[in-house]
Amino acid sequence: MSLGITWAVAWIRQSAQVVSEHRVELITLDREIGDGDHGENMERGFSAVLTKLDDLPSEATPGDALKLVATTLISTVGGAAGPLYGTAYLKAAAAIGSAPELDGAAIVALLTAARDGIVLRGKAEVGDKTMVDAWTPAVDAAAAAQAAGASESEILAAAADAAEAGAVSTEPLVAHKGRASYLGERAIGHRDPGAQSTAYILRAAADTAAE
Ligand code: ADP
Ligand code: MG
Ligand code: MG
Repeated sequence: MSLGITWAVAWIRQSAQVVSEHRVELITLDREIGDGDHGENMERGFSAVLTKLDDLPSEATPGDALKLVATTLISTVGGAAGPLYGTAYLKAAAAIGSAPELDGAAIVALLTAARDGIVLRGKAEVGDKTMVDAWTPAVDAAAAAQAAGASESEILAAAADAAEAGAVSTEPLVAHKGRASYLGERAIGHRDPGAQSTAYILRAAADTAAE
């Protein structure tokens, strides 16, 4: 589909769906190296988003939809992930402005701004075993795909593939940010829950764009 408000809403609904489907898995990952609430936090946030989506005016833009996600996640998700994802959606919304349709350059700008927002807020670098390890390869892959002339849905698919690989890449790492950093070498062998939820959310973006 073309990437207007219908896609943005479909992406958000699909994100709520996948976060809910993988709630237990995200809880289990967070139990290994955190406090076991990531699945619950994300499900609470996105189900609150779902109830507010119906209030979006019919002339809303993708940026309006992302801003709604941002404010809802900030107010309903506690812990680290709420402000981090909230900032990501807020910066993504600002990057696309009031454009009614997103082309490849806008998609790359959206993803880049989201990642930059997370880094601004959480100060993590690639290799620190956080969601940045999924976001940064996703941004790089999206930019490369766009430069190579890929379609919007191909750009998002490249981002989703890279985010999945990025989530897997956190497994052998020691954490330098977040709760997992308290564990030292005991974090080795466990995947970062926020990197995994990022992979699900970006896959939702790609899947809905391919429809
Ligand atoms: P909390 O750790 O407060 O319980 P969540 O469990 O919901 O919050 O989220 C944990 C996730 O947040 C981690 O898996 C990691 O991906 C991400 N995270 C934590 N701190 C940072 C940070 N400084 N920068 C980027 N991501 C972070
Ligand atoms: Mg947690
Ligand atoms: Mg917590």
